[in-house]
Amino acid sequence: MDLERWLDEAVARHRTWTAGFGPYRAHPSLEITDERFAEAFAEFSDRLADNYPFFHPRYAGQMLKPPHPAAMVGYLAAMLVNPNNHALDGGPATARMEREVVEQLAQLFGYHNYLGHLTTSGTMANLEALFVARELHPDKGIAYSDEAHYTHRRMCGLLGVEGHAVPVDELGRMDMQALHRLLGTGRIGTVVATAGTTGLGAIDAVHEVLAVARHYAVRVHVDAAYGGFFALLADDDAAPEGLPSAPWRAIAECDSVVVDPHKHGLQPYGCGAVLFRDPAVGTFFLHDSPYTYFTSDELHLGEISLECSRAGAAAAAAWLTFRLLPPTREGLGQVLAAGRRAALHWADLIDRSDRLRLYQRPELDIVTYFPVGGSLTTLSAVDNAAALVLAEAMADPSDPVFLSTLRVTSQAFGLRAPDLTPDAEGARILRSVLMKPESEFYVEQLHSGVEHFVHQVLSHAL
Ligand SMILES: *Cc1c(COP(=O)(O)O)cnc(C)c1O
Repeated sequence: MDLERWLDEAVARHRTWTAGFGPYRAHPSLEITDERFAEAFAEFSDRLADNYPFFHPRYAGQMLKPPHPAAMVGYLAAMLVNPNNHALDGGPATARMEREVVEQLAQLFGYHNYLGHLTTSGTMANLEALFVARELHPDKGIAYSDEAHYTHRRMCGLLGVEGHAVPVDELGRMDMQALHRLLGTGRIGTVVATAGTTGLGAIDAVHEVLAVARHYAVRVHVDAAYGGFFALLADDDAAPEGLPSAPWRAIAECDSVVVDPHKHGLQPYGCGAVLFRDPAVGTFFLHDSPYTYFTSDELHLGEISLECSRAGAAAAAAWLTFRLLPPTREGLGQVLAAGRRAALHWADLIDRSDRLRLYQRPELDIVTYFPVGGSLTTLSAVDNAAALVLAEAMADPSDPVFLSTLRVTSQAFGLRAPDLTPDAEGARILRSVLMKPESEFYVEQLHSGVEHFVHQVLSHAL
């Protein structure tokens, strides 16, 4: 699709829509000449250029990529109206679109009679799930793994709930024996299982967590902010990109789940989602707003959410995108599968490399690796080299590569590379999230680029 053509069309349609309400006098206080705008916009555009090329496969760092053009057009078209999805009278069209989008997400996870809505972020979505967890078990703590997103610890503090970090196994997944012991103390009311950790992309054994939790009558919340859409690839037979299905299928039986369409759902920022399996939790959100003007008896999205104002444009963008690339195996699934194949292919190249070594095999589309060779026999040397590779690769004027680093503990490192001398408490390794399908066609270039920078860093050191 031609982005410019459809952005123009969105503006033209908006003009037609507004004209239908008749003429009115513009106010001089808002008037800006094109000359003045041109000047400000030139400065603005120059400043905006100070960014990393998230769209390009040479950007293989953090979880960042531009939204799909369909999402851009949907967002802009709705933003011209600027509906607020807090209440139905803030924007009936986008509130309905939100319901339909959330229904598609519910189907993705196998939720039937649920309560759910979009949020501005995974953080807010998780906060709601932990808030409900606290309301249901006010005197008990919340458990999450050592590799869970740091938001869980912080939100437990905010909610005044005791947070418990459960150790992880040698692949970064919640340790089941440790969970058993913790739940045996009777101090925990809710366990957070992470389906795709932000650092390594490790998948907690949601099905096993669920079994242990049910044994102790404890709730299970699944943080699938990053990994959720990989449920589309859950298939025990679809090599190479198919994923063992048990953890993904178990989400249907868990009490709540969070997914971020602004990560793997092709959406711009401002789009998370939370779903509760039991709609009765809606009673915890009761409020008595004197401001919200109710024009209908339908449940308002603002009545089941901690956030008030939210961009209706976020729902619009997701709705339009999902019309074209729905969250199905054949739709969005193909986008995720490409990133996953890219990650697996890169892992194979790293396995055969004498300049790079895998930290662990990618479970989803995150590749973690570190430089090897020469003097790199200690954690501190690896840490230093990884940081230098990151900096030099990014600064190369003609053929840059953009990576990210991940700090790991010496204990975690020792489980994967016991031959390195643990002379520090931890080390930075390199990390690449291959979340753009285009990475599939670029992996070999990426690999030789990174190898080149490792060589460059090591030869400087000599
Ligand atoms: C990204 C992420 C979050 C936080 O979500 P935001 O949308 O960045 O607020 C929480 N948990 C996991 C597993 C994540 O990957």
